Amino acid sequence: QCVQVCPTDVLTEQKEAYLVKKAIMDPSKKVIFMTSPSVRVALGEPFGKKAGAYVEEQMVAALRKLGADYVFDTTFAADLTIMEEASELIERITNHKPLPQFTSCCPAWVKFAETYYPQYLPNISSSKSPISMFGPTIKSYFAQQESIDPASIITVALTPCTAKKFEVRRLELQDALPDHPDTDYVVTTKELADWMKMENLDIDMLEPSKYDSLMPRGSGAGIIFGNSGGVMEAAVRTAYYMLTGENPPQDLLTYKPLRGLDGVKICDVTIRDLTLHLAVVSGTDHARQFIDQMEKSDKQYHFVEVMTCPGGCISGGGQPKHLQEDMNTVRKERMDGLYQMDEKMTLRFSHENPEIIRLYEAFYGKPLSKPAEKLLHTYYQDRSDILGEDPAVYQTDYQKEP
Ligand code: SF4
Repeated sequence: QCVQVCPTDVLTEQKEAYLVKKAIMDPSKKVIFMTSPSVRVALGEPFGKKAGAYVEEQMVAALRKLGADYVFDTTFAADLTIMEEASELIERITNHKPLPQFTSCCPAWVKFAETYYPQYLPNISSSKSPISMFGPTIKSYFAQQESIDPASIITVALTPCTAKKFEVRRLELQDALPDHPDTDYVVTTKELADWMKMENLDIDMLEPSKYDSLMPRGSGAGIIFGNSGGVMEAAVRTAYYMLTGENPPQDLLTYKPLRGLDGVKICDVTIRDLTLHLAVVSGTDHARQFIDQMEKSDKQYHFVEVMTCPGGCISGGGQPKHLQEDMNTVRKERMDGLYQMDEKMTLRFSHENPEIIRLYEAFYGKPLSKPAEKLLHTYYQDRSDILGEDPAVYQTDYQKEP
């Protein structure tokens, strides 16, 4: 199984769309899609639209035409991730637990850390990724609300990411609910585009459709998760509120130091008398460089976001490729597509999402509660033994002698 990011398609991903089609044909199953933010700014490209074109409602319409029983937005679960992850950060700072807190949304980064930096496993946020929070929430809360047997639910994550196919099969992410995998299948942007073409669905010919309403589209904070720096920016918005009882000032709503394609972005954010030292990293070589630098310096970072793909999930291994174009231009256009949508929205804070508030009131209680710990948090494993006796054979370009 290929879980690598492969910009030229030399390595091909494991396809799962045919398994989803089989589930759709089975009348005893309810097939529920959850769509990651980056898909909607890239799905138009195989149909001739420019990179970054925002095709959310056409994507939802396509999934309904293909047989989805429900279509949810993973940005809703991104808001849930922020509620848990920001609470965890504050709890670590308050109770002197291991810092910095590293993000955990990127399965390729998590596996990389498990292999090369197992000493930092206590630093990786125990909060699951949005997809891995959404699966068990759909099969528990949503199933209860709609009186659906969880055993009949098939959850399908539509993502830009080939590594998510590995994440959803981690045993640690299969055990939140007895007898049901938390998430059943992962389909990438490219797989969906191919499936649509096989069914003669053209994105321009589809009547736009909206998400299902019990867990509707998330906040702007959830939408920018697809960009490198987006998770950090979303978390800072809510951590600010959790620490002060007020929303952050306007300059923290388009926080330029956290944005852009640089492999390492470093900045400080002061919230009352607390100065948070933050870093945003994309790419594993940059992660190595950053960790080396962090270990050599005295600086105590509080929160570090790491994404494996350059620029974040907008350039994930399951996104359409542009071999003839400058990929950085494509990445920038997709990033802009997500930032522009965030700026257009009135709901821009995860903690203000009314359906997230309702979900906590009705089901989880509060962030880091016992039910939240059971369904929304996980743990990691030391995989460094696969390196054997000679870790040098696994060195990347950054580590090799010039
Ligand atoms: Fe997947 Fe890349 Fe996003 Fe990591 S950065 S979650 S590998 S798409």
